[in-house]
Amino acid sequence: MYDIIIIGAGPAGLTSAIYACRASKKVLILEAKSYGGQIINTLDIENYPGEAHISGFDFATKLYNQAKDLGAEILFEKAVDINVIDNLKEVITTKNTYMSKAVIIATGSENRKLGLPNEDELVGRGISYCATCDGAFYRNKNVAVVGGGNTAVEDALYLADIASKVYLIHRRNEFRGEQSTVNHLKEKNNVEFIYNSNVTKLNENERLESIEVTNKDGLVKTIDVAGLFVAVGKIPENQNFAKLVNLDESGYVKSGEDCTTNVAGIFVAGDNRIKEVRQLVTATSDGAIAAINAVKYINDL
Ligand code: NAP
Repeated sequence: MYDIIIIGAGPAGLTSAIYACRASKKVLILEAKSYGGQIINTLDIENYPGEAHISGFDFATKLYNQAKDLGAEILFEKAVDINVIDNLKEVITTKNTYMSKAVIIATGSENRKLGLPNEDELVGRGISYCATCDGAFYRNKNVAVVGGGNTAVEDALYLADIASKVYLIHRRNEFRGEQSTVNHLKEKNNVEFIYNSNVTKLNENERLESIEVTNKDGLVKTIDVAGLFVAVGKIPENQNFAKLVNLDESGYVKSGEDCTTNVAGIFVAGDNRIKEVRQLVTATSDGAIAAINAVKYINDL
């Protein structure tokens, strides 16, 4: 029996573990993939207080080691369900069942796809969802990035130093991404902005060869690219808990800044809850708040 089971070993989950362990609670972290979550793909974090520059991998590894050193147990198993049995929570993974007094869901989000017919089969053969992971494969080649958020503009900036040409395709003419990054991008002479347009077709010959881009007037243009980096947002990974925990229409857990959910003893932390700002610092903040409230809940049982 654990005090707290934390589902997800990203920045939110690992921070929850640090706070819960420091409150002398017995903590199990369940992680479906590898520790670190999305931040692991960030080459250089420049906006975390106290760390002027740190790679996502180094940051996540420091958090992971800190949680383990404080006594958190970490198992690499995918949690697929939660049941409430009296005051206790039963967490079911693909391998086992674990019991705890409280649960923190810190599952983050996964990449949204464009939904084009051959998109899945071209992953690794021209389609990528991670510029810092796969960018080096496209040295001196033409690539495109699709999206208008921070991920897209940062990906385009990163790729501009590797690829011979980068097309940044956005469905509107205004970016959600930070203006300072957009300004940096505008200074690059190998970046072409394509506004008010969607990627509508992937042309392949075993590998991606070109993309068709359709603008808002229906005009179709074919662009030769070896790689297309899809950065069109994230989908919260809450599907497995939807029978128990209330979600909004986009699949985010309905929760306020206190990280509580509709179920007593089940908390949520990080990108998978409704929130205005999804940043590393807000994920770790959630981790702390969820753990503190989970500890209070357990102590009051
Ligand atoms: P995002 O901010 O949700 O942006 C997704 C972008 O993709 C939007 O511009 C959206 O267009 C576009 N889009 C959505 N569906 C599309 C589709 N089917 N076809 C074409 N375009 C589509 O996602 P994100 O950039 O991955 O960022 C996620 C969160 O992480 C954000 O809160 C972001 O600020 C944060 N983040 C922060 C940093 C950092 O602080 N350094 C780095 C990366 C990400 P519309 O604009 O028209 O909706």
